[in-house]
Amino acid sequence: MPQNDINLLAPASKGKSSVNILEVSHLKKTFHIKNPDGKKGLLRAVDDISFTIKKGETFSLVGESGCGKSTLGRTLLGLYAPDHGSKIMFNDEDITNLSRSKRKNFTKKAQLIFQDPSACLNPRRTIKQILLEPFKIHKMENAEAKITELMDMVGLANRFLDRYPHEMSGGQKQRVGIARALALGPELIVCDEPVSALDVSIQAQVVNLLVDLQKQLNLTYLFISHDLSVVHHISDRVAVMYLGKIVELSTRDELYEKPQHPYTKALLSSIPDAGGDPREKIILTGDVPSPSNPPSGCRFHTRCPAVMDICKTEVPDFIQTSSNHFVACHLCTK
Ligand code: SF4
Repeated sequence: MPQNDINLLAPASKGKSSVNILEVSHLKKTFHIKNPDGKKGLLRAVDDISFTIKKGETFSLVGESGCGKSTLGRTLLGLYAPDHGSKIMFNDEDITNLSRSKRKNFTKKAQLIFQDPSACLNPRRTIKQILLEPFKIHKMENAEAKITELMDMVGLANRFLDRYPHEMSGGQKQRVGIARALALGPELIVCDEPVSALDVSIQAQVVNLLVDLQKQLNLTYLFISHDLSVVHHISDRVAVMYLGKIVELSTRDELYEKPQHPYTKALLSSIPDAGGDPREKIILTGDVPSPSNPPSGCRFHTRCPAVMDICKTEVPDFIQTSSNHFVACHLCTK
């Protein structure tokens, strides 16, 4: 079944709205690249992906580096133009090809929290100047009062407003990054590996802050991470990506307790306590293939411990295996 059809059937997570804030259909993002041999090539970072996110939900994307999850998040926010034929609906409005003025308005409602807070805060500006910037761009009033409120929301004292980013710790800088993302009152936030650059001791604090802010402000998160422990803590639903495609999608609990795709099983085997029971460790052999030249058939077949002949030639359909669970694997269609 095509992904766009099945995802619309996904139920609301417990306690969450049943209204979609985002509907993504056949999203593709291709980059023109130069291969190591000097020839031009195409890299399809996101390849025909469809899903929906409900208001107030945390929808996570997991997968190894280079699987396309960050490109997907940035394409949704308009930082990359999607390929022709893609469709992105936000609050029932088609935002796939917005005019400049409508795009500016959309940025108020959808924001990004970056992975590396050091790289995304201008080192020559004070925290106050950094937080005032979105209000200036959008010509909004009462900015000074609002940034005081934002600092309080993210647990930073006002004395930090006169500091420069280099005078703050990684955790404090990420709180500034979160405050800046909240400045314009967004509904959707793409959190792109928001804690992976932080010390382990700080990660839990920032994740808990995101959870608290979500409840307080009724935010919706698209949470991108390779850390399955963090994803287990924060998610309502989880999609697993491999080489530009979603290979499994389910509720958090069902995915962690009953993974069906061999790739998901391998990822989860690295966190033995995720579902309560110890898991047999699955070591994947081989490197991740290049997304500019993905394997035929099932893209995972070069590394799959359960590979069959059919996997090398036929792309598995993304099928519904239970009310909350969708998988792209020939094992599930046998
Ligand atoms: Fe493995 Fe085949 Fe399933 Fe792909 S389709 S995950 S190669 S069993």
